[in-house]
Amino acid sequence: SLPTPEAHIRAVTDAVQARSTGEPEFLQSVHEVLESLPPVLAEHPEFISGGILDRLVEPERQLIFRVPWVDDQNQVRVNRGFRVQFNSALGPYKGGLRFHPSVNLSIIKFLGFEQIFKNALTSQRIGGGKGGSDFDPTGKSDGEVMRFCQSFMMELVHHIGEDTDIPAGDIGVGGREIGYLFGQYRRSTQRYESGVLTGKGVGWGGAEVRTEATGYGAVFFAEEMLLRVGEAIEGRRAIVSGSGNVATYAIEKIQQLGGKAITASDSSGYVVDEAGIDLELLKQVKGVDRARISEYAERRPGAHFVSGGSVWDVPGALAFPCATQNELHESDARTMIANGVRAVTEGANMPTTPAAAELFQQAGVLFGPGKAANAGGVATSALEMSQNAARSRWDRDTSENRLHKIMRDVHEATYAASARYGRPGDYILGANSAAFVRVSQAMLEQGL
Ligand code: GLU
Repeated sequence: SLPTPEAHIRAVTDAVQARSTGEPEFLQSVHEVLESLPPVLAEHPEFISGGILDRLVEPERQLIFRVPWVDDQNQVRVNRGFRVQFNSALGPYKGGLRFHPSVNLSIIKFLGFEQIFKNALTSQRIGGGKGGSDFDPTGKSDGEVMRFCQSFMMELVHHIGEDTDIPAGDIGVGGREIGYLFGQYRRSTQRYESGVLTGKGVGWGGAEVRTEATGYGAVFFAEEMLLRVGEAIEGRRAIVSGSGNVATYAIEKIQQLGGKAITASDSSGYVVDEAGIDLELLKQVKGVDRARISEYAERRPGAHFVSGGSVWDVPGALAFPCATQNELHESDARTMIANGVRAVTEGANMPTTPAAAELFQQAGVLFGPGKAANAGGVATSALEMSQNAARSRWDRDTSENRLHKIMRDVHEATYAASARYGRPGDYILGANSAAFVRVSQAMLEQGL
């Protein structure tokens, strides 16, 4: 006889905990998904007997490798590279590369685990993976970044391919890095395999709107959550954290929809601009000059910079955490609820701690978890792969319309699953259960 869903979840949780010491982020992401699953397993005992959970929490393959490179002073430097190929039931591994000094196996595994479910929600044929390095691009010259990317790819080339594993960007990896990585892949293999990386330059195989897609998609998701309860983005203040791609294009779409985005941040602090963020200036400061966010306030009359502190102290009806994991804590959630926040939409991966997310849900705040709300980026990556495979190229309108439709579908599937499993409007339950069923069915049908 089968264990109850609760007992089964507890056994798998204990097992993964025992062999994942020193991996707090990974364990956090596993807990977050597994906690949603009792009603799903109750309806699908075959997922218990098929050992789906035991298999899901163990990556199919994980690579850790040395990345040696030479800096501008001719010194040899060594970083650590990672690629976790987590699950390929729905398609080839797909997920970004993160270059940041905080990167370790725990962070890559949590991101890879999230990616499985996020990718499933897009309905595109992509499995889940993630990679990166503890390399810090901040302050590095173009030449150093290029040499690092080339060395990183010298190892990665053996493990990726357009039908195997397709990396893309994440924190610290944008168009520049993807270009260097692709160049090295092409030279090493003597193959112009366009679909092996996504986020390429639009002049050589990249998709229109890929750069904007994660931020735009998160705002589309917020719009859907609000529409369902008869509300809108228009006329509302939005608090955005981060100042990379996701934050920048979330701000752009909020503004296009008539909302007022008044903040941006980086690891040094945040800026408040009551007139609304000047996007051209933000793109110049962070995207072109690669400067600190304080530079924005220095160049913009009326804006001010707050060193350290929490951007979540700034009142606004809409919140978009678009920086990094665990950037929004319980205490922030309390402040935001007291200040009348209406919707929190995660542009980043797991930016809200579990305790903070629970507070939002208890307070009746609409809460869009990252694996649903930020799926627009990877969804557009999948569209880039189809264009590459077909040797075709879509225009901007086609690309943005496809993204918009995908985000509406992600919202609908997520909401429907939340209702089906007993808590309509609980998008955490909805995203986890809808994605889990899709992946599990594929795993079951394909055998061990
Ligand atoms: N890094 C992005 C994410 O977290 C995009 C991954 C991709 O496009 O493959 O979903």
